[in-house]
Formats: sequence, C-alpha cells, structure tokens
Amino acid sequence: MNLISSINIWERSQSLTGVCPQWKIDYLEIAKEKTKKYNRDISEIVGIKLPQPSIGLSFMNPKKVMASYDSLFQRIYLNSSKELLEYLFPENIDSTLIHELSHHLWRNTSRDTFITQLLTITKTACIWQEGFAEFLQTNFFSDFVPKGMSNGLSHNKIYVEGFNRLAYVVAFKDPKEVFQVPVKWKQFETEYQNYQKAIH
Ligand SMILES: [Zn+2]
Repeated sequence: MNLISSINIWERSQSLTGVCPQWKIDYLEIAKEKTKKYNRDISEIVGIKLPQPSIGLSFMNPKKVMASYDSLFQRIYLNSSKELLEYLFPENIDSTLIHELSHHLWRNTSRDTFITQLLTITKTACIWQEGFAEFLQTNFFSDFVPKGMSNGLSHNKIYVEGFNRLAYVVAFKDPKEVFQVPVKWKQFETEYQNYQKAIH
C-alpha cells in the first residue's frame, strides 16, 4: 500500500466513523483494548518497550485481507466490510491482532530505518516478514489467544515459505534467535538456501 492511499484511508476511516453502524464502532473499541493489552504482553516477553500502535477500520476493503499493518504510521487496519468483520469477531480477532503486532515488533526491532525497509522490500523480505508474524502468532505468542478462539495458519504460499524458514531458525539455532530475525534475516536466508541445496 503506498503512502498517499494509506493517508487517505486513515483520514476517511476517521471521518466516516461518525456514520459507521454502532456495532462496527463497538468492534473497533474491543480491538483497541486488545491491541493495547497484547502490545504490552509482547513488550514484556521481548524485553523492549514497543510504542502503542493505533488501530482503525480500512475502507479500501481488499477482498480476503482481514487486517494489515502500516509500517510508516505504525497502524493496524481492520477490513471494515460486514463479511470480514463478522469473520473476525469473536473467533479470529485475537490471532489476527497478534499477527499484526508481530509485524509491529519487526518494524521496531529491525535496525534498518523505515525508508531502507521500504526501499528494499523484496519478495524474500516479504516471505521472512510474513513467516515471522505467522510463527510468533502460532508459537511464542500463542498463549495470548484465549481458549476456544481460532489460531490457524494461512495456506498462502508466501506465509508457508516464511513459516518454514522460521522453523529452520528454531531447529538449527537457539529458539531465542527468532527475535533476531528482523536484524539477521538476510544471513539466515543464505544459510537456509545452503541447507536446502544440501538436503535436495
Ligand atoms: Zn502479515
């Protein structure tokens, strides 16, 4: 998502809040509270104080994108369509927020500046970022998801490829190295490729 469309959506989402049905505003309030809590929990586990991300409804509503993370403004967007909000609440909101907060953690632990992160975004970088979010959501941060709520993995190819890379880091290094992935992923990618060559 580019900068201009990101700003537009945010401004529109704020001004449209007044004409939003109350149930959508109520859901957004629940998501805000959960975001605050999970961001604190993640800060504690990782041992760094993460800034508080803001959260809003996106009115772009790309199909099948339940939520997204905007690195520039450190914001989480929920898809505001009725269909996807009803999918998110109550079963999927916790795992979705934890996934997006893992992107927030990446944003705040990568040593690259935001501009460098933006200019060097490649398919491989996306694979690692999505794998990082999927892995933390379903492993290190999975206890945050309340019992009975869903915490499934995406079957999207990029997510699966990313998840496999994180599983490699855990299997062949100290599991704590997972939190170093935003800093060391390029080095890990080289090692992972060499490992793939060796076993095939
Ligand atoms: Zn993601």
